[in-house]
Amino acid sequence: MTRYFQIFIQSFTDYARYVGNEVLNAHWGNYFYWLIAISVFFYLLELVFPWRKNQPRIRKDFWLDAFYMFFNFFLFSLVGYYAFSNVFVQLFNDFLAIFGITNLVAFEIQTWPVWAQLLTLFILRDFIHWNVHRLLHRVPWLWEFHKVHHSVEQMGFAAHLRFHWMETIVYRTIEYIPLAMIGFGIQEFLLVHLFALSIGHFNHSNIRVPLGPLKYLFNNPQMHIWHHAKHLPVKHGVNYGISLSIWDYLFGTHYIPSDGRDEPLGFEKVEEFPNTLKGQLFYGFKKREK
Ligand SMILES: [Zn+2]
Ligand SMILES: [Zn+2]
Repeated sequence: MTRYFQIFIQSFTDYARYVGNEVLNAHWGNYFYWLIAISVFFYLLELVFPWRKNQPRIRKDFWLDAFYMFFNFFLFSLVGYYAFSNVFVQLFNDFLAIFGITNLVAFEIQTWPVWAQLLTLFILRDFIHWNVHRLLHRVPWLWEFHKVHHSVEQMGFAAHLRFHWMETIVYRTIEYIPLAMIGFGIQEFLLVHLFALSIGHFNHSNIRVPLGPLKYLFNNPQMHIWHHAKHLPVKHGVNYGISLSIWDYLFGTHYIPSDGRDEPLGFEKVEEFPNTLKGQLFYGFKKREK
């Protein structure tokens, strides 16, 4: 028990030190400044080449979403997620050890060139996330959490990281075993994370960038806007793609009936959804009548 407690305290202080370092020292591997730089880049594009020209420059919930960006990227880990997850990983490994399993690695790809490992990680992770995203729409109690992301009514880059903290737990838990089974030989996934972060910001941006045939590969604002559409012909949603759109085309969940520029966004009764951070952080845990 004390061992788990030590891991918890150690992780907690390690992460606090990490965030402090990130804020104080700008360097090329620094997520904090990359997040700011990528956000400023897409915000400038929105200001100069807006798709919905009538949308306010400081759109509805702009500041709330800006806060979510830092909350979901750093603060949630800071307030304990990192420490809790390290304890759970240790508990899980100890549990496996009871059955004599000390190594989860089933496919060893660390002998591959770094670029091939990064590409594999990117594609595999995106496919896992596509499946998790579908679950968020199909399982009623998960949808209650995912509604935070879908409560956006005016779309802009910062909406990308507006999501309930339970989503972090669901995504990380489901991806843990498949990713652990693949023995990546690299520890630093900065490039993959920054690439995914940029595409995610792009998908939510108020800009129009025709991708040509690349739209069958990469998600984009003209596709993702339909994912957020308030009125859809199917119950559980469309266009679940995170970074890649190809999964939706392969599995027939793509839907772009027309230019979605002015499509109403949200879900039925979105106007009754809490619009404060506090209201949203605890949304999904309350019992409500159906
Ligand atoms: Zn969704
Ligand atoms: Zn979205």
